[in-house]
Amino acid sequence: MSSSAKRILVTGGAGFLGSHLCARLLAEGNDVLAVDNYFTGRRENVASLLGHARFEIMRHDVTFPLYVEVDEIYNLACPASPVHYQFDPVQTTKVSVVGAINMLGLAKRVKAKVFQASTSEVYGDPTEHPQNENYRGSVNTIGPRACYDEGKRCAETLFFDYYRQHRLRIKVARIFNTYGPHMHPNDGRVVSNFIVQALRGEDITIYGDGMQTRAFCYVDDLIEGFVRLMATGDDVVGPINLGNPVELPMVELAREVIALTGAKSGLIYRPLPMDDPLQRCPDITKARTVLGWEPKTQLREGLTKTIAYFDTLLSA
Ligand code: NAD
Ligand code: UDP
Repeated sequence: MSSSAKRILVTGGAGFLGSHLCARLLAEGNDVLAVDNYFTGRRENVASLLGHARFEIMRHDVTFPLYVEVDEIYNLACPASPVHYQFDPVQTTKVSVVGAINMLGLAKRVKAKVFQASTSEVYGDPTEHPQNENYRGSVNTIGPRACYDEGKRCAETLFFDYYRQHRLRIKVARIFNTYGPHMHPNDGRVVSNFIVQALRGEDITIYGDGMQTRAFCYVDDLIEGFVRLMATGDDVVGPINLGNPVELPMVELAREVIALTGAKSGLIYRPLPMDDPLQRCPDITKARTVLGWEPKTQLREGLTKTIAYFDTLLSA
């Protein structure tokens, strides 16, 4: 191992973001240990990494303790799509909270730096727009999204208590909607749904009137943000928004996907799920200032790469 190489643990390493992160960390010459229980992650996502001498993957559920020697931990294990995190809501809160406690405990024991994949969902259905890190959020504690939102909020609390109480080196990123290759084709998130529907020639499902907004970040840009945040000095702990501040309504995303795939799909309207946020867009001033980071990939370019990925996957 070269002197600057680190031993890095990535929980949720077989998932969408985790698999890209593992590839990036390996490319930088690190030893990477991925752990995953394959709830939403897939072996195919890490298939190309398996022959790499510095890569290891372990089947493990982070709600159980883990004992490994590492220098850094990226804690990503948790289903991210509303369909998947609402499938077993009790487990979602458990993985967020108990998973965080286990990773913080490990970080404390081995004196590792620890990164938390938090989320824009901590802002709930926001009453301030765009959302900056000082906004405290508007979350329905008893709704169907609460298992995820409150689980992630509690995880942030734990991270900051470990920081204050045990002087742990923490990095908390609040991730906004991200898309790209390795998303699960059935995970129900809007970008994967629209692309898969268009490629199959099916109608595109718009929830509500489609005027609700999101802002989409391409995965490579996000991973760059992760790595920059982890590399900051110990005084930078976050929370810090990572996302692309280019907001658009869901009907517009559907039209863009139809145009780029050349599909003949129409739009069909379905009820808006309960507590579905009406608008969301990150204020990334802090990321720009502290990390010198901002997304580079235009939506059209990112969608084109993602469409090519799903096209290959669906025709395999
Ligand atoms: P994903 O569902 O593709 O990945 C999550 C991974 O965690 C999967 O591989 C899954 O199998 C694994 N996992 C779930 N429960 C586990 C457990 N108990 N033990 C071990 N592994 C477990 O989702 P993603 O989009 O890659 O999200 C990764 C992280 O980033 C999540 O923590 C998510 O909350 C956060 N995040 C993602 C987005 C986004 O837009 N992708 C936005 C905000 C936050
Ligand atoms: N959505 C939609 N059609 C779909 C899937 C999602 O209109 O087939 C909407 C959903 O209601 C939400 C937005 O797209 O307003 C983003 O949904 P996603 O599940 O990707 O993530 P969220 O940001 O809600 O967690």
